[in-house]
Amino acid sequence: MTLQRTHIAGANSERTKAHNRRVVLGYVQRSAGAGRAEIAKSCGLSTQAVSNLIAELETEGLVVSGGRRRAARGQPPVVYTFNPDGAAALGFEVRPDALVMVMTNLGGGELFTRQVPLTSTTPATVFALMTDLARDAKVAAPVPRIIGAGLVIPGPFGVEGLSAAGATVLPEWNPLDAAAGAAQALGMPVMLEKDATAAAIGERLAGVAHQLDSYCYLYFGTGLGLGVIAHGLAQRGAFGNAGEIGHVIVRPGGLACDCHNHGCLEQYVSRMALQRYLAARGLIAPGDAPDSVALALLAANDAGLAAWLAEAAAALSQAVGLLENLFDPQAVILGGALPDAILDDLVRRLDLPAGSVARRTGRVLPRVLRGASGPTTAALGAAALVIHDTMTPRLDPAP
Ligand SMILES: [Zn+2]
Repeated sequence: MTLQRTHIAGANSERTKAHNRRVVLGYVQRSAGAGRAEIAKSCGLSTQAVSNLIAELETEGLVVSGGRRRAARGQPPVVYTFNPDGAAALGFEVRPDALVMVMTNLGGGELFTRQVPLTSTTPATVFALMTDLARDAKVAAPVPRIIGAGLVIPGPFGVEGLSAAGATVLPEWNPLDAAAGAAQALGMPVMLEKDATAAAIGERLAGVAHQLDSYCYLYFGTGLGLGVIAHGLAQRGAFGNAGEIGHVIVRPGGLACDCHNHGCLEQYVSRMALQRYLAARGLIAPGDAPDSVALALLAANDAGLAAWLAEAAAALSQAVGLLENLFDPQAVILGGALPDAILDDLVRRLDLPAGSVARRTGRVLPRVLRGASGPTTAALGAAALVIHDTMTPRLDPAP
């Protein structure tokens, strides 16, 4: 069977070889196996150009020849298929309290996962740890080659208004240098993305967003971030800072935020807010991660935690209504580092606004879903970025 001609065709010129390589690899990956003539026809390339590219991809192990397909007459063509185990990608998430790392094959399958607590978040310390983890991954799960790494950090990137905002950010990190610094430490190309956007992408690979094209993802890192996917594409804004929902004011005149606003959403709904609440009750030391203590309190039906969750759910309900009316998503997903049981409890407590475009007859999905790809979702999304970049032609094929 011939796949539909790819929307973005190749071009027969040495200058655009990298582009053509993405076109061919992407086609083979989406097909169940294709011969050179089919690939050439479907991708708008000469058979010679396809033969050269296939030879290169086969040498690199990304494509394997899978025998010959039966043909009506003449010599049946050799069929090429995508080899997801031909290489791997790394994904790193740097949070103010932890470094999460995954290694996946090119199909997004997890080969190695590790989370280490961070006591220092200086770039030099984190880059050294990343290098150690990459070495551990290669020993634990040997792969032929690693094509690159994705690195995700909390936003926002390079703005004066929010970037010095307290415990939810990495104060010593300059997003302009982060990818280059990590690339130098790891000895491979590195792509940078915001945590919430990467998490939204990760959830589409391996979670409840698998069948969704347009959705919002509320990401619980330390603060609260938002990833918006519209028709399969991440919405990043003009400067890469779309999605700073944590600093949307939901309680005018409310709790002071490090960003200098009062009543920001993440002061009510975030791991940082939960941590502060538990620390104020003497249940954890400042700086301790709140997750396991909160889980134990939830299991014990603790009234104080219930009160916090009720207030968080009220603020979150407002935010969900806002997202629905702004973006008209198929669903709003909650996920990230907050434990699933706490997220489920928050979802149960939501009292969503009646005035929302999300209220329609024939609705298939609940308005709010809990993410299913777990605390590694942002790191998985980081690896997915690298894989996506290897297979997807850019709209502008210029070198
Ligand atoms: Zn704020």
